[in-house]
Amino acid sequence: MHVLELDCAPHQCDFLIAELYERGAVGILSEDSPDGRSTVRGYFNFHVETDAFAGYHPHWLPPDETDWEAVARSQWDTAPVGERFFLVPEWRDDPAPPGRLRLMMRPGRACGTGWGPATQVMLEAMEKVVRPGAAVLDLGTGSGILSTAAWLLGASRILACDIDPEATAIAAARLRQEHVPALVFTGSVRSVRSGSMDVLLANLNAATLVDLAAEIARVRRAGGVAILGGFQQHALDRVRRAYRCDGEPREKDGWLALVC
Ligand code: SAH
Repeated sequence: MHVLELDCAPHQCDFLIAELYERGAVGILSEDSPDGRSTVRGYFNFHVETDAFAGYHPHWLPPDETDWEAVARSQWDTAPVGERFFLVPEWRDDPAPPGRLRLMMRPGRACGTGWGPATQVMLEAMEKVVRPGAAVLDLGTGSGILSTAAWLLGASRILACDIDPEATAIAAARLRQEHVPALVFTGSVRSVRSGSMDVLLANLNAATLVDLAAEIARVRRAGGVAILGGFQQHALDRVRRAYRCDGEPREKDGWLALVC
């Protein structure tokens, strides 16, 4: 277990917690210090880039033998998301309440455990948009969670891709285990046939979304939609311009999902 410690003002904790989860933290602890500052620790199975945290005095703590995964597990709980989903950590057997779809969260190496608000706001947007029978592209699938969600909502053709081969291996294993008949490949939207998708899911980041705008438009079927996520308010105008999309985004803890 690798432990990244950050120093911040108390009002910055929520933002850092969301960022750490998005980068694959399997557990997070935050503490206020007597001096009015806060400390946020992210527990990782691997080292991550710390450039994004440059303003928060990032440093890795010396490794120790504590079973931090067990510590992290104890902090996870079930969570209803939107009107349709019920997120459950993989080691719990809670059934979904009536009318909700049970979606497993697993901490692990790939992004998109389900715990982070950027993923959850995508799920909220998806439940309004993914119709039975839809063809869905899960672009940047990470752990595969959005593909499973699309399947639960009735999508019939699912393509999932990621530029990170480790993520596609993890997603493929998850989707096989959950009997989701998705085609998973390492790569990106460039490999997808023009006009073939009803729904594109892209929980990436603002810069990548802007770069991929033309390709995403190419792949979308007439009348289809793209759900764009992984960015915050300050990038909204940039994303809207690239997609010529003036819809209102959904928001969760500062993370947006824009349906275009
Ligand atoms: N879809 C998951 C994971 C999102 S994390 C969720 O919503 O929770 C973003 C993922 O996109 C990462 O796994 C990253 O490797 C991948 N990614 C980044 N740029 C990409 C690109 N240009 N094409 C495809 N995948 C990309």
